[in-house]
Amino acid sequence: MCFFKPQNIFFLTFFIIIQTSAYPQNADADMIFLKLELEINPEVRFLKGKATEFFRIKNKSEKKLPVKLDLSDSLKVLNVLYGKDTLEFSHKNNFLEIKPQNSWKETDSFSVVYQGNPTKTGLGSVCYSAHDGIPVFWTLSEPYGAKDWVPIKQDISDKIDSVFITIKCPEKYKAVSNGKLFKETVKKNIRTTEWRHKYPCAYYLIAVAVTQYKVYSEFVVTGKDTVEIVNYVYPERYEQCRRKTWKLSEVFKMFCDSLCQYPFIKEKYGHAQFGWQGGMEHQTISFLSDFSLDLMIHELAHQWFGNMVTCKSWSDIFLNEGFATYCEYLAAEKGLGQTSDLSQWRKAMIKKACRNPQGCLNAKDTLNIGKLFDTSLRYSKGAMVIHLLRREIGDAAFFKTLREYLNNKTFKYSNACAKDFFNLVSKVSGKNLDWFFMQWFYGSGYPIYDVKWQQTSDGLLNIKIIQTPSDSSVSFFRCKVPLTVFGSDGERIILKLNNTYQGQTFTMEPGFNVRYIVFDTEGEILTQNPKIEKAVLCTNCYPAFKIESSNASYKINILNLKKFSFYTLKSINSANQLRGRITGNGKIEIKAGTMPEGEYILQLEGINDYYATKIDIYYKKRKKEI
Ligand SMILES: [Zn+2]
Repeated sequence: MCFFKPQNIFFLTFFIIIQTSAYPQNADADMIFLKLELEINPEVRFLKGKATEFFRIKNKSEKKLPVKLDLSDSLKVLNVLYGKDTLEFSHKNNFLEIKPQNSWKETDSFSVVYQGNPTKTGLGSVCYSAHDGIPVFWTLSEPYGAKDWVPIKQDISDKIDSVFITIKCPEKYKAVSNGKLFKETVKKNIRTTEWRHKYPCAYYLIAVAVTQYKVYSEFVVTGKDTVEIVNYVYPERYEQCRRKTWKLSEVFKMFCDSLCQYPFIKEKYGHAQFGWQGGMEHQTISFLSDFSLDLMIHELAHQWFGNMVTCKSWSDIFLNEGFATYCEYLAAEKGLGQTSDLSQWRKAMIKKACRNPQGCLNAKDTLNIGKLFDTSLRYSKGAMVIHLLRREIGDAAFFKTLREYLNNKTFKYSNACAKDFFNLVSKVSGKNLDWFFMQWFYGSGYPIYDVKWQQTSDGLLNIKIIQTPSDSSVSFFRCKVPLTVFGSDGERIILKLNNTYQGQTFTMEPGFNVRYIVFDTEGEILTQNPKIEKAVLCTNCYPAFKIESSNASYKINILNLKKFSFYTLKSINSANQLRGRITGNGKIEIKAGTMPEGEYILQLEGINDYYATKIDIYYKKRKKEI
């Protein structure tokens, strides 16, 4: 799903709390097939429906218990058919409980016949509106609004294996829904349209729209297959839409190539125009108010992230929204997105993500729709955290993880939770990334940086990084901090400092006179308002050393030991680095063979003191004082 700006319209209008269903004392029915027959006239706020539900009773001991579905009280159930018989039911508090005659068969079914003037809830679950004076009807069930127009089990983890939807509407209108158009007939001014969708589908991804549509198709060849992208657009917007929709074809191919084949390849993909300000990724048919490229890309990406692999619970909604948002970026990287300025895109995401200093990616309050779909967190922060993860594990492991996630036997056409994804990242990358998930997914906020730097008389550049997390749930954010160092003669170097502890100081030899340093010029790190200033970092802490070297080792004796507890030896010309605690006698011993001979920077750190100097390591018998 994607909201149009200003997002606050949505928050103000629909900021309500809804109870989700729970199914205690009821048969745990696994929903397997839904046959939905609807009569809809967008001119009249009244719908009639017959929902035939096929289900499997998972636990034999529950076969005498009622089956419980969600259904709004604004709709009236006329009867529940069971073959030639009817079944007893109760319908209250937006639940429909259907009792078995005696007991359910292992696989069983009934038909709920219902009608009424549906009441919209949440994001506008069922809507009667108009465009250019023409009546339009549409549904948008995410997250808890399917019950407002269809009796259904609103359980995100119980996908229905297939859905057939038949819509009867006045002849002048067209009705669009999920899957393949099976049959369309007109009889006595009534148009009957039959849609068949034969892939597993989460309840909130089923949708119907009815209005006067102009329909046109574009075709995309991916591998050996040709996919129809069918567009149902408002006639008055036809020319405008036609100019935009064709741009999606290349992105469609790119997703098929870099992720995996389009998940609903045997059916179709499509767009249907509706009046809600934004887009919604209904399975095989995204509903859009506008056809901006990023919005089309976002909803298309959901067909993989969200529809084929659906988050297992609403608290993991970032798996849907963070990835769909990041896919806009993946398209832009290939020159197929709305923007070509990648750093500007990242900076915009960072700015939005930082609007919520106490916000957590993991949605804790899933019943509050405003908080659940907080765009700052689930979309912007979600996308940036995915980008940070990519930086952490590298492109090869990142794209391999995405492909494995989407092709995983357990998740494909089913559900995955955040932990499933994290386990896969760790498996593919071979890295323990618990710290990453703890700080960015379970923890809230982001780091706020205070960077101090100093260039010493011997040319060494010391940079100290202090951070204050924006929320107390994370004591320290481990990040790669990007800094650009500018010299007085126009020199420039970009540093990515792996900041792993509070107050960490880095020393390097830039080889020029440093004039100033700029924090993250490219939008690579999730933070805002960094402070960066020139400061004195080594004060009253100039130690003296005695060096003893032999063929076997190189020993550094620190004479004023008290101030320092850690040392780091970093090679100037290679990646060799050694870090350790300074022992009681103040001796650092480097055995020959562990670090090659050469020029090094020796850093000494204490609680308040820091010192760095250049030294030469060699393994020849020699004594020296420096
Ligand atoms: Zn979305």
